[in-house]
Amino acid sequence: FEQRLMEANRRPATTLDGVTITLRANIEKVDECALVKEYLADGVGLFRTEFLYLNAGHIPSEEDQFHAYKAVAESLAPSPVVIRTLDLGGDKPMAGHPHLFPKEDNPFLGYRAIRFCLDHPEIFKDQLRAILRASAHGDIRMMYPMISGRDELTRANVMLTECKEELKAKKIPFNAAVQVGAMIEIPSAAITSDVLAKDCDFFSIGTNDLIQYLLAVDRVNNRIAHLYEPTHPAVIRMLKLVVDEAHKNKIKVSVCGEMAGDSVYAPLLLGLGVDELSMTPPLIPAVKYLIRSMKLSDSQKLAEDALKLTSAKEIFTLCNEFSRMRV
Ligand code: PEP
Ligand code: MG
Repeated sequence: FEQRLMEANRRPATTLDGVTITLRANIEKVDECALVKEYLADGVGLFRTEFLYLNAGHIPSEEDQFHAYKAVAESLAPSPVVIRTLDLGGDKPMAGHPHLFPKEDNPFLGYRAIRFCLDHPEIFKDQLRAILRASAHGDIRMMYPMISGRDELTRANVMLTECKEELKAKKIPFNAAVQVGAMIEIPSAAITSDVLAKDCDFFSIGTNDLIQYLLAVDRVNNRIAHLYEPTHPAVIRMLKLVVDEAHKNKIKVSVCGEMAGDSVYAPLLLGLGVDELSMTPPLIPAVKYLIRSMKLSDSQKLAEDALKLTSAKEIFTLCNEFSRMRV
């Protein structure tokens, strides 16, 4: 069966009613480019760059980061590579750097990701320059994690503009039109997505964190894992809100949380209007197989029905039956 799935994976992710869906890869390391190719992903939808920092055990230099990003861009060109800026903290603390990451009572609500970066312009700007320089070597795009509202997005973009000007002054090449997106993974960002969409080239929804923060359920606490419900009506409504606001503003929406690579949820996401899915490469064949066995119009009906239901269990059952009937 594995082999048949890999065989079928060579064909495009086109639904029975003729719509081709973009399936990208989530990666954490440069050498995972081999997996991106093996599983025929359309480039990378989420490069979790914090692992460069965690694996090195220190803050890597601009030069080291440039070489890593350039290697990924060149290896996968002409496919796009979406680089997410540093998301340390929360479930990914940096050990051995208590001066940068002091111990906190609530790390998931604390000093992480864009909050840390905006507070450390010297660290953040090294990364921004490295990403910009790599953008001269392939289709590099970038996005900021844990954006909670417009002011953070503006502050990050001001630093990005400063970096572009510094590179320009030194005549170092970069793509001046590099696409910049925001991760939508905090409820406040989702609720103000109409505002954020005006200053973004795309959205990428991080359902792992969005569900955690929306339902107030720690994503790594096993005791309450049963409360972590991707099909909670609040989650479904919030996803619809973000997709609708993005499309009103003519930008695309990707989902790069675990939901995207789960055959139970992928049709619901597509039915809600999500344009692209990004997942760990080995999950691509199963999701593609399902996409090739369904009509997009049926998934739209599924989403419509799901939005009318009021219980997570009922929506889960609906989604589960939808995919079980097709595979
Ligand atoms: C997410 O929150 O859904 C996401 C993709 O980011 P991470 O899992 O790295 O927090
Ligand atoms: Mg996240």
